[in-house]
Amino acid sequence: MVKYGQKKLVLSAQQHQLPTEQISKFAIKVIKRLKQAGYEAYLVGGGVRDLLLGKTPKDFDVSTNATPEQVRRLFGNARIIGKRFKIVHIIYSNNDTIEVTTFRGGNSPMLQVEETAISREGKRFEVQVNRDGMLVRDNSYGTSLEEDALRRDFTINAIYLDIQTGELIDFHGGLYDLTQGVIDIIGDPETRYREDPVRILRAARFSAKLGFKLSKRTLEQIGPCAPFLRSVSPARMYDEVNKLFLTGHAQASFKVLTALNLFDQLFTISPMLLNSSTCRDFLNYAFESTDQRFAEGKCNKPHFLYSIILWNEFIWAFYEIRDDLMFSANNINYKSLIAFLAAQVVIMQYRITAMPENIIRSIALLWRLQFLLESKDPEKYVKETTSYHAFRAAFDLFKLRAHFDPNLQSRVEFWQPYYDQCKADAERRRKSNEERQSRLSERGERGGRRRSSRDFKREGREGRESRRDERRSGRPEAGSFEDFNETHADRQERMNKARDWRRAMNLEP
Ligand code: ATP
Ligand code: MG
Repeated sequence: MVKYGQKKLVLSAQQHQLPTEQISKFAIKVIKRLKQAGYEAYLVGGGVRDLLLGKTPKDFDVSTNATPEQVRRLFGNARIIGKRFKIVHIIYSNNDTIEVTTFRGGNSPMLQVEETAISREGKRFEVQVNRDGMLVRDNSYGTSLEEDALRRDFTINAIYLDIQTGELIDFHGGLYDLTQGVIDIIGDPETRYREDPVRILRAARFSAKLGFKLSKRTLEQIGPCAPFLRSVSPARMYDEVNKLFLTGHAQASFKVLTALNLFDQLFTISPMLLNSSTCRDFLNYAFESTDQRFAEGKCNKPHFLYSIILWNEFIWAFYEIRDDLMFSANNINYKSLIAFLAAQVVIMQYRITAMPENIIRSIALLWRLQFLLESKDPEKYVKETTSYHAFRAAFDLFKLRAHFDPNLQSRVEFWQPYYDQCKADAERRRKSNEERQSRLSERGERGGRRRSSRDFKREGREGRESRRDERRSGRPEAGSFEDFNETHADRQERMNKARDWRRAMNLEP
């Protein structure tokens, strides 16, 4: 198999022998309907790539010459999403959404800088770039598959499958790269990263996920182009970070991103901290357990991820400010200090990856709960701590910390039975919910009264209120962080400990 110099490689079904029975029936349905309506349609992207690698595809993408509007007209369950880059989602269920993109054109003559959105003739430019060469709009549609392949990111993602003839069509040597375990960007790397800097993160993600290496030219321009990542919208960055760390290859992503000097572009973590072995070992261990959870089919939530990654940044700032305040203030309001510092760290992060508001609040809560879990007199905080929905996640973070801090072991032993109890309670609630749901649907099938939206709202309200009452009744007076109103000797000991800790991390000047 030759990589360059070849024009187009077509493999017949007998030659490639792909396990096509693994292709989603919905993707096949979409392609068939498009073809019946007279359009071209192919399976492309991660679905084809993963099938070729013998992996189970995460999702299926379809490429067609029908415009988004034409696709929408054909499917009742279709939604056009995105303005910058219009695509159509055909939704069958939560887990079965087929993404349909229209063949993109090559470099259009209408390419203009961002400020001139409308041409002199009054027509909107369908392809626009800003002064950095970043594509801010790309809705120029092409007519051929070859043109479409040119606009895709990596050769391994630009292999098309014609499900009718069974042919695999490869314009850029993607099949060869798959056999070599190489990620190679299509076209001139600098131009492609400028157009869309997220391709840099995608290169890192595929390298981590597939264990592939980056081709020399793909790798070489990553350093010089990494600063362009700052112009990517924080909402898009948030999505990319979730894909990097929540889909079973967090440890490998961490390794690849640090090797490419990209990790600190994604998170507000000071280089000094990141380079300390304490911080690295902690993150490595935490990512390993995240991947383990994923492999066991357990869910990993973004707030937990961010609470791990930014923990060292937060706690370091906490100790530093607390030590300073101890010299100048008689009484420190620890509750406010913790809330203030948590907000500061999280807001800095929000500028890079726009986390939704509930995630931000949960991160701060997980950190606050660390202080209660660490308390010298934990009995006092049992009711408050366990009343939080976040208790289990907070304890998971605590256990990760305890792995590196033997002083926390006794607290782990203290809290473990409460954790087990909470887990059992949650399991029981989940089961009884399921039973109730199935009873209700049975009743519905037998012709019983269907629940109206008002019923759902009432149930939700009642649930929320009872949870709130539960929390209130078990919560001690606000601001009761007695543990931190220490004696002078205790303070001194704590400060020494903090200093040792910083010294161990090479952070002490
Ligand atoms: P996975 O879904 O397994 O994460 P994927 O390759 O399918 O990987 P998607 O985000 O689903 O990734 O994108 C589908 C396809 O669209 C890609 O395979 C690629 O061909 C193309 N694509 C996606 N994002 C870009 C981009 N930023 N630039 C160019 N092409 C892209
Ligand atoms: Mg995909």
